[in-house]
Amino acid sequence: MVKVYYDQDADLSYLKDKTSAIIGYGNQGKAQAMNMRDSGLSVIIGSIKDASWDEAVEDGFQVYPIKEASQKGDIIFLLIPDEVQKDVYEKEIKEALTSGKALNFAHGYNIRYGLIKPPEDVDVIMVAPRMIGVRVRTSFVEGTGVPSFLAVEQDASGHAKDIALAISKAIGSTRVGVLESSFAEETELDLFSEQFIWPVITRTFRLSFELLVEAGYSPEIVALELYGSEEASEVFREMARVGFFKQMSFHSHTSQYGTLTRGPRVMPEEEKELIKEILEEIKDGSFSKEWEEEQKKGYPIFNRLKEEALQHPMNQAEENIGRLIKGLRD
Ligand code: NDP
Repeated sequence: MVKVYYDQDADLSYLKDKTSAIIGYGNQGKAQAMNMRDSGLSVIIGSIKDASWDEAVEDGFQVYPIKEASQKGDIIFLLIPDEVQKDVYEKEIKEALTSGKALNFAHGYNIRYGLIKPPEDVDVIMVAPRMIGVRVRTSFVEGTGVPSFLAVEQDASGHAKDIALAISKAIGSTRVGVLESSFAEETELDLFSEQFIWPVITRTFRLSFELLVEAGYSPEIVALELYGSEEASEVFREMARVGFFKQMSFHSHTSQYGTLTRGPRVMPEEEKELIKEILEEIKDGSFSKEWEEEQKKGYPIFNRLKEEALQHPMNQAEENIGRLIKGLRD
């Protein structure tokens, strides 16, 4: 059984005489910095001179260039996009990461694939919220929190886990539960969701939309029926809240029968072979290499596919729904 930590397992005093340098004031950086500050801790921000810098100043933080923040900070939170972390680490952080400091991640990618190799005399930890930054903040303000995965890759101080638990508490995660994981587990599962679960869902909706419109159904009706009414998001919420299968009781018997009988037809057991292939590419590093190549070339495939997706007729149908149905897409 996985180990789960709550407020009583975490002690903020491990952060009391330390400065946390939050590098990157974006989705996670802003939320975590604000929660840490509201937890009574010393927080500074490291940023490039952009809109995020100005926002952090407006929010009342002391903001420094990344190198300077890394020098001042005892615990360095790497909360910039994963694909720029290696470069920024090499140029701005590495030298400042002196003995006894800690490097904290919100996702394990760069450690899992060996892109960042911190020195042995620093703690390397991860507190990875399972939620977008906005919710990390709003749930904290509401007096609750979001679950996180916690991991220790290197324990140079002998207190790496205590520090990670204190961070978890300061951002609100131990209020609801923090699950002990590893950099490899968190990264591989995250990539798996992104590369199997979400493609299956998005591809299914896209192909269904195309087929149904070709069959003569109205694009707006199809988009609303498939996902636009937010019924699909409600089903996901109930899966998490009530249970993956138990939530079926909210649907008609016809719906339940249709889902249970057609499931194995649309995705037979043999599909597990394809699922294994996707997982293998994640585990053996071939996806990571492919993504690195794509970045080096300036994202040609990524940009083309994204552009194509944004031109898809589903976009027009959604806009029409937004105009036609009150309260949707506000
Ligand atoms: P963001 O995309 O919000 O970027 C964070 C900040 O980094 C922004 O202020 C951005 O500035 C800045 N930035 C972008 N490029 C550079 C660069 N080259 N050098 C320095 N700063 C740069 O990141 P997220 O908060 O989404 O992700 C941070 C980490 O958190 C990642 O490891 C991610 O996997 C993890 N994570 C993210 C979640 C989320 O909610 N998005 C959920 C859980 C984990 P600008 O705005 O100018 O681009």
